[in-house]
Amino acid sequence: MTAQIIDGKAFAAEVRAKVAEHVSALKADHGITPGLAVVLVGEDPASQVYVRSKGKQTVEAGMESFEHKLDVSTSEEDLLALVDKLNNDPAVNGILVQLPLPDHIDEEKVINAIDPAKDVDGFHISNVGLLATGQKAMVPCTPLGCLMLLRDHFGSLSGKEAVVVGRSNIVGKPMAQLLLRDSCTVTIAHSRTKDIEEVVKRADIVIAAVGRPEMVTGDWLKKGAVVIDVGINRLPPAEEGAKGKLVGDVDFASASQVAGAITPVPGGVGPMTIACLLANTLTATCRANGLPEPEGLTA
Ligand code: NDP
Repeated sequence: MTAQIIDGKAFAAEVRAKVAEHVSALKADHGITPGLAVVLVGEDPASQVYVRSKGKQTVEAGMESFEHKLDVSTSEEDLLALVDKLNNDPAVNGILVQLPLPDHIDEEKVINAIDPAKDVDGFHISNVGLLATGQKAMVPCTPLGCLMLLRDHFGSLSGKEAVVVGRSNIVGKPMAQLLLRDSCTVTIAHSRTKDIEEVVKRADIVIAAVGRPEMVTGDWLKKGAVVIDVGINRLPPAEEGAKGKLVGDVDFASASQVAGAITPVPGGVGPMTIACLLANTLTATCRANGLPEPEGLTA
């Protein structure tokens, strides 16, 4: 059996197009332009690429993009002052502080200083609590992207057996909460899970968010399982100076022989993350203005 490929790149383009359509209507009908502020501290090359990409896609969706690039030596106090300013700026509907932050800055303190209503990354402790208690929250972008792909594939997720491999605060835990909210039976596996292959084997839905290249192999899977690979791992380059191959946490070659459907890496979950950031910014704008939320773009 060869799995259906879930094309995250194409789906993300559809999400961005929907966001752009809503933004255009917001402008025409209400004179509102959603604004997303992205704050980058330091010069981490990967973060710079992400921030550039976020800015570009924000503008393409018709929103305002506010980029704040701060020196690596910026103090925690100055960063908190900027967050406070953005919290109080009516043109800013979403705030994202790019992680990781330099060691001298307390990440949790900064994240929890963001107005929860503008916390488009969904990392603020209030949003974590709202999601866990089934209330209206801002939902972390990567798990939201996975959920959208799954809903598109299955329609209803009710009653499905789901196994999330990984229990991080940014992917594994919120992913499990979202699946639970959609009435899956959810198991979270992690580095201390016994007989992890057997646990994964009972799943109709497998979410791999581990950060270990190609760890989940075809022989871990139930025939026909739907596999969402969150991992982004760069293998060591074959020769010096070359770029290593990008792979997921799932061994695509063996898994695609057993799975019913699978996301590739790259081109699966990755593109959904920024698309969901734009969707969250739109949602935050609608909520702030007492307008109905865009259908199909929230959890
Ligand atoms: P973390 O390192 O924060 O968490 C990894 C999780 O995997 C931990 O819960 C850990 O368990 C578990 N784990 C590690 N080794 C094993 C093992 N051998 N068996 C079972 N479980 C294990 O990673 P993130 O959640 O931040 O990211 C996971 C992956 O997703 C990474 O590859 C990352 O690059 C990618 N990612 C992709 C995004 C995208 O946009 N597509 C966005 C965010 C992340 P324990 O808690 O017991 O240590």
